[in-house]
Amino acid sequence: MRVRKSRVVKVGKFAIGGTNPVSVQSMCNTDTRDLRATIDQIRRLEHAGCEIIRVAVPDMAAARNLGRIRKAIDIPLVADIHFDWRLAVEAARQGVDKIRINPGNIGEKDKVREVVKACKAARIPIRIGVNAGSLKALKKTPAPRWTPREWAGIMVKEALDEVRLLEREGFGDIVVSLKADDIERTVAANLLFAAKSDIPLHVGVTEAGSFLAGTVKSSLGIGLLLTKGVGDTIRVSLTEDPVMQVRAAYEILKALGLRQYGPNLISCPTCGRCQVNVEKVIKEIEARVYSDSTLLRRSTGKKIAVMGCVVNGPGEARDADFGIAGGKGRGIWIERGKQIKVVKESDWVNEVIRKIRTLR
Ligand code: SF4
Repeated sequence: MRVRKSRVVKVGKFAIGGTNPVSVQSMCNTDTRDLRATIDQIRRLEHAGCEIIRVAVPDMAAARNLGRIRKAIDIPLVADIHFDWRLAVEAARQGVDKIRINPGNIGEKDKVREVVKACKAARIPIRIGVNAGSLKALKKTPAPRWTPREWAGIMVKEALDEVRLLEREGFGDIVVSLKADDIERTVAANLLFAAKSDIPLHVGVTEAGSFLAGTVKSSLGIGLLLTKGVGDTIRVSLTEDPVMQVRAAYEILKALGLRQYGPNLISCPTCGRCQVNVEKVIKEIEARVYSDSTLLRRSTGKKIAVMGCVVNGPGEARDADFGIAGGKGRGIWIERGKQIKVVKESDWVNEVIRKIRTLR
C-alpha cells in the first residue's frame, strides 16, 4: 500500500520515513511542570504501544523538566514549542529527541535560526507543524473564504518556506505535519506536500473531537492518506485519555493491514436472535488483553470472534483463528471453522484468555 518513499529521519531510537513502519505517536495532557504526573502518563502510553511522545513546553520551568522526563522513559520525547524560541533551545539542551515548532507563531527568521543551531548541536530533528488555525496568512486575512484547495496551497507554502529556511542553514532532519480540523483540508494539504517533497509526514486531523466523532474523522482522514501511501507517522487527536488515542491509531493501522498490534477482535452487532451478552464479553476480553503485555503479544495477528448466535455465528466466524458462537447461556467453541466443544456463557472470557496463553 505504501508508495511514497520519503527520506529517513531518526527520532531517538525510531526511524521515520523510508520503508519504516508507520509509527504511532501521542501527546501528554499533563502539566509538564508536574514531573510525576507526566512520567506516569508516558509510562501508561508506552505500555499501550505509543512509540514517540510529545509534551507541551509552555514555559522555562517545563523546559527544565525535560531532561529528567527523558531519563525516566524508554521512548523518544518530543518538545512542543510555541511562541518562544528560547524554550526550544533549552529543550534541545535538555536532551529531547525532537523539537516541534509552529512556523505560524515562532517568530522571525533569526529566532528560527537559533532553534536550528541548537538542534544541529544536539543532532536532533525538527518537526515543522503547520496548523490551519495558526497560519501566518490568517494575520492578513482573519476571516478567509478560501476553498479547501486554497487552504491546502497556503498551508503547503508556509511549510515549504520554513523547510527552505532550515535547509539554507544546512539542516535536513525535518518532519512536516499539515493539520486542519476537517478531513478535506488535511488530506488536500498532505497530498499536495507529498507531491512536492520527500520530507516525512506526520499525519493526523487536529482537534478531531470526542472519542467517537474524533475517531471517525481521524480514521477517514488518516486512512485516506495512508491508502495513497502518504504518512510516515500518525497521531489520533481525541478529547480523551491519550491511551485511547494510541489504541485508535493502532486500530487504523491494523484495519489497513499496515501494522499488527494485539488481536483482531470481531464480534457481531447482535439482533433479536441473540440470547447472550456479546457486548459484555467482547469488552471484557478487550480490557484483559490490552492490560496484559503477554496476552497482547501472544494474541497479536490472531482473529478472535464472539458471535451472538449459532444461526450465522459459526459461518461468520469461519475464518477466525478461534471464537465462540452463542446459544442460550452457552456457546459453541470454534477453531478455524471447526466446532470443538460447548462452553458456558460465564466461562467465555476465561476460555478465550486461556487459549491466548497457549499461543506462542
Ligand atoms: S451472529 Fe446471530 S445474533 Fe449476531 S447479528 Fe448475526 S444473526 Fe444476530
